Amino acid sequence: MKKRILLFTFLSNLLAIILFSVLSTNIYYRSLLSEEKRSLSAYMNFFDYSYTLDSEGAKNFSQKINGARVTLMTAEGMILGDSEAEEIETDHSARPEVQEAMSSGEGYAVHKSETVGYDMIYYCRLFAERGCMVRIAVSASSQWQIFERTLPTVGLILILSLVGCVVFSFASTSFILKPVQKLANESNEKQIPKPKYRELDRIVQTLNERNENIERQMEIIRLEKAETEKAQRSKDEFISNITHEMNTPLTSIKGYAELLSSGCLSPEQQATAHSTILSQSEKLSALIKRIINYNEIDSDDLPSYDVDASELLRDLLSTVQPEADAAEVEIIVDAEEEVILSSRHERVYQIFSNLIRNAIRYNKKGGSVKVSLNEKFFSVSDTGIGIAPENQEKIFSRFFTVDKSHNGKNGGFGLGLAVVKKICSKSDWKLSLESELGKGSTFTVYFSEAHNK
Ligand code: ADP
Repeated sequence: MKKRILLFTFLSNLLAIILFSVLSTNIYYRSLLSEEKRSLSAYMNFFDYSYTLDSEGAKNFSQKINGARVTLMTAEGMILGDSEAEEIETDHSARPEVQEAMSSGEGYAVHKSETVGYDMIYYCRLFAERGCMVRIAVSASSQWQIFERTLPTVGLILILSLVGCVVFSFASTSFILKPVQKLANESNEKQIPKPKYRELDRIVQTLNERNENIERQMEIIRLEKAETEKAQRSKDEFISNITHEMNTPLTSIKGYAELLSSGCLSPEQQATAHSTILSQSEKLSALIKRIINYNEIDSDDLPSYDVDASELLRDLLSTVQPEADAAEVEIIVDAEEEVILSSRHERVYQIFSNLIRNAIRYNKKGGSVKVSLNEKFFSVSDTGIGIAPENQEKIFSRFFTVDKSHNGKNGGFGLGLAVVKKICSKSDWKLSLESELGKGSTFTVYFSEAHNK
């Protein structure tokens, strides 16, 4: 860039100098000519009757006017005498200065003299009363000669200008480029500070916008990466949990089956083995069903229809009543009639069933469960064991159970609340939990307006 600025400055200087010298030579030449014309006209005033109209008279007059060439002619332009040439073309009437003098009394011209062979300035005047014309001529420098004379000066100016250009360009480019270089160094900073020069405002603004954009994109990529990693972790965890949950009943089934096939079990032991194999198989099958059910919710894009949640709740409560009786838990119901939800029967059933069964299962003997249903929400409050604050978020994760020893009992695999959470989020319903360890828990599902009727 520095070289370019240098070259550009030098070339523009060169052009300016050449233009200047050509123009000034021309102006100088013109002023020189008019000066010469004026002095020739003044010389002419010295011509009088004392000069004879022949070569002798011409030479005499020439001496009077500092040796300027004098040509004497008739009023028609025929030569009578010349101060410099003895043999001269006799008819000068075609010369421009002579023609002009014949028509207007005086004439000027600059041209190459055929007699002496170089450029001359001619001034010719008609002396009508004497019937003659006098022409005075002095040599004229051509424009080129004047230009040639100025060439050394022009050359010197050119060299000085080149040196000046180099110095100026280096100084100015360093000065101009300094803020740009500073900007280049700062271009990767998040926020480039406001520049000293207004001209750089736009660049800084663009760079800042670009940097912000990159930062935003990076943030999106970071978030996406974190999401992918989280999804991968959750998948790995899911697989590891399933494997673990399946492994326990399978080991048990395999062990008892081997014992049975060894034939060394007493009839009572055989009966125990049979019933264990049966119960473990049922547990395995229940687990598989729940996993299938859980995965189905995601891909379930079946249309919604009006579900009579009040009727569904009534039926469900009659089914779970024996479980509540067995657990010695009282169920209190506060449900409005004809609460209609825009959903699907199985989805509403999953939510109601999981929450009510958990409230019974994780209750205390003699405790109670309060079930409420209306247009706005469905809630289940229990007076059970409660959930510690650190577990209140985790219980909605797949396969999370507070007490692992409960796993498999009454279908408890830690999938129930994950299913409830998934259905709620798919239906745009808000699920909330309030719980105090040892005192009880309240799960509430708030129906979104778009989904209830
Ligand atoms: P599970 O099938 O094991 O009950 P859930 O997903 O339904 O699985 O529940 C996860 C865990 O949350 C349970 O193992 C239990 O520890 C806890 N939990 C759920 N409901 C309640 C409740 N009403 N009171 C206390 N703990 C509960």
